[in-house]
Amino acid sequence: MHKMNFRDFGLDKEILKALEKLEYEMPTAVQQQVIPFVLENRDIIVKSKTGSGKTASFAIPICEKIELEQRNSQVLVLTPTRELAVQVKEDIAYIGRFKKIRCAAIFGKQPIEMQKRELRQRVHVIVATPGRILDHMERKNVNLEEIKYLIIDEADEMLNMGFIDQVEAIIKTLPLNRATMLFSATMPEKIEEICNQYMIDPKRIEVDSKDSTTEKIEQAYYEVEEHRKFNLINKIIYTERPSRCIIFCNTREKVENIIRQMKNEKYSCRGLHGGMEQGERLNTMQRFKRGQFDFLVATDVAARGIHIDDVTHVINYDIPVEKESYVHRIGRTGRAGNGGIAITFVSQGDVEMLNDIEEYIKHEIPKREKEAIQEGERIFEKQITHKAKGDRSDKINREITKIRINAGKRKKMRPGDILGAISNMEGIIPKDIGIIDVQDTCSYVEIFGKKGDFVYEELQSTKIKGRIFTVKKVRFRSF
Ligand code: ADP
Ligand code: MG
Repeated sequence: MHKMNFRDFGLDKEILKALEKLEYEMPTAVQQQVIPFVLENRDIIVKSKTGSGKTASFAIPICEKIELEQRNSQVLVLTPTRELAVQVKEDIAYIGRFKKIRCAAIFGKQPIEMQKRELRQRVHVIVATPGRILDHMERKNVNLEEIKYLIIDEADEMLNMGFIDQVEAIIKTLPLNRATMLFSATMPEKIEEICNQYMIDPKRIEVDSKDSTTEKIEQAYYEVEEHRKFNLINKIIYTERPSRCIIFCNTREKVENIIRQMKNEKYSCRGLHGGMEQGERLNTMQRFKRGQFDFLVATDVAARGIHIDDVTHVINYDIPVEKESYVHRIGRTGRAGNGGIAITFVSQGDVEMLNDIEEYIKHEIPKREKEAIQEGERIFEKQITHKAKGDRSDKINREITKIRINAGKRKKMRPGDILGAISNMEGIIPKDIGIIDVQDTCSYVEIFGKKGDFVYEELQSTKIKGRIFTVKKVRFRSF
């Protein structure tokens, strides 16, 4: 019964060609189940874990079904955030590229006139956030009379208090003979009740049992007081060395605050939250997807649906306010069959929420003791014992040599190149090497203890990526 090959669905060769280029060799479990129902225009409610390929499960069949010559839009996809609208639009556009399917992403804070112009052309698929598409509907900039498919991504979020009125207002204007499709990794029962009003005999598709949501993700929590959190995150970064990490906070202010502290520490990081200017939001997301910085500090605007390759760590600096949010946040790692690590900070008032989350995900999250990462701390302490008194952070500063290497991302430098070159030096072990920060045109590496000078001297004649670069000692300005 299960199709193991995209060819088995009888798809157009243009679609198959796109899938081949995207290196989608086989349909994922959710795609195997969902594609046939979409091809039959059935109403469906799909619950399947984060990273399981839900987007393509609707994008492939709708691209197949779209009639190219039809002037009015045929598909409307609703998403909760602008970043997700852009991503889903791109996913659909890739799959539909050889069939020449046109998609538009329509979301707030972008010039409305520009979108109006785009909507005047033949756009087969509109991916939108609810507020802005309503705006265009009221201004009669868009004609939704021939919508055949309404897709609500992150459906539980969209049918939640914040969005439900807008979503209802949109649905009321759509043709009744459309198919309605809901997707999410979490689908509370009350949401399913709401959707029954808009759907005709919906087929429920649930892929994987409940507890597999998180099986690829190693989870842990630390008990930590609020004012110790930043210290802890530093230690975790030193010991775990995440190569790509999302740090979730509950408020914009918190994001700004953490970013300020992380910048002081010279982490390669950027913030993302709803209070930022739109261009900056998209730019930040794009740069993170391209690997141009390592730490994204974000509110829940980045929790849902956003796919970034190889996020190794998710850290909940603040425990989420809603239990579903935990599943979505940690689901930014462990995607498409990869592993990942999710660490949650739990402070005094958070214990009840932690219990709620554990009950919801149906397993206990192991607790890690802060002592378990003492090792990272001890590296410092061992090397600073013979130093004079003063603030501990002063000592650390004095014990770290920071070296600037005159080559960065533009020269395709990667942290591993620098780590490799330095750890090859005689007498240097990986633990001597601290944070490596590769920026656009230069890189920084920190060396612990007394070996700083030695490494600095060696680097004058050590090749990195086959070349010798100018190096300079820089003053350490953090703490
Ligand atoms: P979800 O919406 O279920 O959280 P996405 O739709 O964002 O997950 O897909 C996660 C990742 O898997 C994306 O990078 C997507 O390109 C990739 N992907 C989807 N389908 C396939 C497939 N059949 N083969 C390989 N990769 C796939
Ligand atoms: Mg998704």
